[in-house]
Amino acid sequence: MDRATIRSRLVEIVGSDGVLDDPEELLVYEYDASDEVFAGHHRPDFAVLPRTAEQVSAVVRLANEFGIPVVPRGAGTGLAGGALALRGGIVVVVTRMNRILEVNEQDGYAIVEPGVINLELTQALQPRGYFFAPDPASQRACTIGGNVGNNSGGPHCLKYGVTTNHILGLEVVLPDGERIWTGGPVPETPGVDLTGVLVGSEGTLGIVTKVMVRLTRLPEAVSVLLAAFPNIESASHATSAIIAAGMLPAALEMMDQLTIKAVEDAFHAGYPREAGAVLLVELDGLQEIVAENTSRVAELCRQHGAWEVRVARTKEERDLLWLGRKSAFGAMGRLAPNYYLVDTTVPRTKLPATMRRVEELSREYRLSIANVFHAGDGNLHPLVLFDRQRPGEVERVLECTTEILRYCVDAGGTLSGEHGIGFEKRDYMTLVFTTEDLCAMAGLKRSFDPRELFNPEKVLPTGFRCGEVAALRQQAIAQRLGLEYV
Ligand SMILES: Cc1cc2nc3c(=O)[nH]c(=O)nc-3n(C[C@H](O)[C@H](O)[C@H](O)COP(=O)(O)OP(=O)(O)OC[C@H]3O[C@@H](n4cnc5c(N)ncnc54)[C@H](O)[C@@H]3O)c2cc1C
Repeated sequence: MDRATIRSRLVEIVGSDGVLDDPEELLVYEYDASDEVFAGHHRPDFAVLPRTAEQVSAVVRLANEFGIPVVPRGAGTGLAGGALALRGGIVVVVTRMNRILEVNEQDGYAIVEPGVINLELTQALQPRGYFFAPDPASQRACTIGGNVGNNSGGPHCLKYGVTTNHILGLEVVLPDGERIWTGGPVPETPGVDLTGVLVGSEGTLGIVTKVMVRLTRLPEAVSVLLAAFPNIESASHATSAIIAAGMLPAALEMMDQLTIKAVEDAFHAGYPREAGAVLLVELDGLQEIVAENTSRVAELCRQHGAWEVRVARTKEERDLLWLGRKSAFGAMGRLAPNYYLVDTTVPRTKLPATMRRVEELSREYRLSIANVFHAGDGNLHPLVLFDRQRPGEVERVLECTTEILRYCVDAGGTLSGEHGIGFEKRDYMTLVFTTEDLCAMAGLKRSFDPRELFNPEKVLPTGFRCGEVAALRQQAIAQRLGLEYV
């Protein structure tokens, strides 16, 4: 490709301040939030920062003309390598497209650009009595476009559902540069549900340039309760008991002892350090029902071994309890130089057995594992702590995390609860899908992107037999690190 020509054409489209190709400027776009050991770093040829959908469309047409790969990107907080430019090309960064274009309370939607930050959307809606329900722990940084790409979750998804349940329609630039609208403000639209196809497609089918989000009414009352348990097992039983009692908390989160200590050292959220596990339960709804359910949850926690149950009395106390949970990943730096975050889901009733298996694996592989997870959804996040400088640790982490994933899938779970498949987990797709399933997905991808230029190397595996593919992936990582893989 003629680099100078492409550069000047890009500058014509987005202006000179919207095209980056200097290696130092591109450095930040070589990564997302995945651990570098596993995802690597990949320099794009250009990072382009458009301000309008028309510009996005023109950039994509240009890329198509020259046969250059295109990678959509929001804030780059993804944990599966989804926004990495594995084959170089143009990374289209939508963070400058950050306007809230319309809020329509009568029809219950807002139209926003993809670069709007998740928390800022909720902050803008709150004075009108609404919020955007999906709330990833990264919500202070991640974008709505990235939430759509990853079909992101978050603590409140137990009651309110994940991103797909809150997207009514999308404006999308397709891989040939064409711009389309899918869905709309009415609940049912005829024809193929393209909005459903696009949400969670991880930027492999197009670039989202406008998002019609559902407005969710702020609840009348909210209560947050912290319960301290001797161990994860008792906290898991309490979780099942709460749901079995017919209550649906807005959020039901668990943290183990390692996490509690790290969070306390970093943020002083007031979690009891001696606890083997804490549950953070948020209940919302009508005042009277919230008050009654708070007492019922407290009682159930005590019945299952909680030795302390504390209900936040003020908004400040509630925020502090949540700060600890939402900052838990960040606190891991206090425990080890590196961590590898596993995102997987099991049926809720399998939580105690799964946590026992994670503990066994932690001993077997001599690796500390901290656990912080959306217990109500059965969505686990074992954080495997390691030091990449120590010989043999990276291989052990890889083997251990593969075992965790395998166990969860065998227990009836899935590969990812919310962070997506990206590059990082694509070779594990064969653990849950048959060749026929994967061929159907590949067919869909080809119908959107026949030249395979759009976010290439993501989500779909290149080979088809699971053992073989997982081993190849581990070999490739070992090779890159100059390690011997046995
Ligand atoms: C500390 C921390 C906590 C986290 N907690 C959670 C959590 O609780 N729940 C959760 O689900 N995730 C969580 N994440 C993961 C991540 O933050 C979310 O998945 C988030 O939605 C990604 O948004 P982003 O703007 O950073 O997207 P990016 O990382 O930039 O991109 C993510 C994917 O979406 C695609 N994409 C981005 N923008 C567009 C667009 N406009 N059109 C089409 N495709 C696009 C990309 O190609 C990529 O495949 C966490 C991450 C961190 C670092």
